[in-house]
Amino acid sequence: MRQTEQSQKAFEKAKEYFPGGVNSPVRAFRSVGSTPPFIDHAKGAYLYDIDGNQYIDYVLSWGPMILGHAQDKVIEAVTKTAVKGTSFGAPSPLETRLAELIQKRVPSMEEMRMVNSGTEATMSAIRLARGVTGREKFVKFKGCYHGHSDSFLVNAGSGVATFELEDSPGVPKDLIKQTLSVEYNNLQAVQDVFKRYPDEIAAVIIEPIAGNMGMVPAQPEFIQGIRKLTEEHGALFIFDEVMTGFRCDYDSAQGLYGVVPDLTTLGKVVGGGLPAAVFGGKRQYMKHIAPDGSIYQAGTLSGNPLAMAAGIATLEQLTREDYEYMNALAKKLVAGIDQAAAKYQVPIQTTCRGTMWGYFFNDQPVNNFEQSKASDQQYFAHVYRELLEEGIYLAPSQFETGFMSTAHTEQDIEATIQAFDRVFAKLTEQGIVYGK
Ligand SMILES: *Cc1c(COP(=O)(O)O)cnc(C)c1O
Repeated sequence: MRQTEQSQKAFEKAKEYFPGGVNSPVRAFRSVGSTPPFIDHAKGAYLYDIDGNQYIDYVLSWGPMILGHAQDKVIEAVTKTAVKGTSFGAPSPLETRLAELIQKRVPSMEEMRMVNSGTEATMSAIRLARGVTGREKFVKFKGCYHGHSDSFLVNAGSGVATFELEDSPGVPKDLIKQTLSVEYNNLQAVQDVFKRYPDEIAAVIIEPIAGNMGMVPAQPEFIQGIRKLTEEHGALFIFDEVMTGFRCDYDSAQGLYGVVPDLTTLGKVVGGGLPAAVFGGKRQYMKHIAPDGSIYQAGTLSGNPLAMAAGIATLEQLTREDYEYMNALAKKLVAGIDQAAAKYQVPIQTTCRGTMWGYFFNDQPVNNFEQSKASDQQYFAHVYRELLEEGIYLAPSQFETGFMSTAHTEQDIEATIQAFDRVFAKLTEQGIVYGK
């Protein structure tokens, strides 16, 4: 049995200070009926909790740690930079260096601005789209998550879905009337909303590979269709690549789909494990951001040297071969999970794009939020808790995605597949089955 005494104690203490004992809701492990391991340290593909348990980590800080934890060159870059000062509130060449690396892979970002979180990036991108079009409405998709700013908390994924908080109290009703929420992978629904509001929509924002309702990739015709509709109606197309950026592929999702968005948001991997995010896009739009233009956006710690150094060290090291390596591991993992599930007649839907992978306990294909929500979440929770005992650390919610890093090995994958197999066997033996 896994030791949990120290983590339990730490959790009780944390609850005195933080709502739910945590600083981001899904970390509380509630939807899987458990309590979180408190982490002492991490290295490579492994997490170590304060009880001394080791886990193979597929959460990777929800995406950023693509080179694995505490990677030598990233740590060296951050340490060297820290000695020179941790924040200047003034320009430094590190910002430009990171921008160059970003633009090389995501050329649609002709100009960009550094911010501190994905939430800030998407919030600013929407303000920009509203500002340049002079329109107030925008379209988002059910089950997509774009951070926690007011306008986006409508049918949102991730923690909002996990805790079934459809519309959060505290968000002005008048504001969210401007948010048009439609079904993912349903082009007709997007056509209909443009028909209804032909000249009122500032932008369509999408997770090109949704990772916050579980993992659900957009169909290519869907993305291409939106590109056409937005052009016809003078609306901006925003790719929220906070998760997919440098994650699903070397060139991000826009490279994978071959579609050029007007604006892009990045986060997670781009900060190499420190708080950094970016929004940017075509110069004709970005020139409206202050001080060149009148759309206001600012940040005390934006372009923070430590975060820039971590982002640079991460992007500089990542090669196309690394993505091939991670993709091969991810494919092998989902194939193994599929096989194990088949052995015990557990209905499962697995997906994999680049270094992202996901699984639903569902006997039907999952292409949108409704279908994702129809998955067996009870069974998910059982499997989850048993895998944690086996030392496999996955996102504690059906509405999240698994990741791979360059630090994961074939042996890690083998061990994980075997753990899934043992867990399915154990649950079957205990009479805990899908759909009951
Ligand atoms: C994580 C995420 C965000 C929010 O980023 P934070 O840094 O958590 O604010 C926005 N959009 C997508 C697609 C994400 O996955």
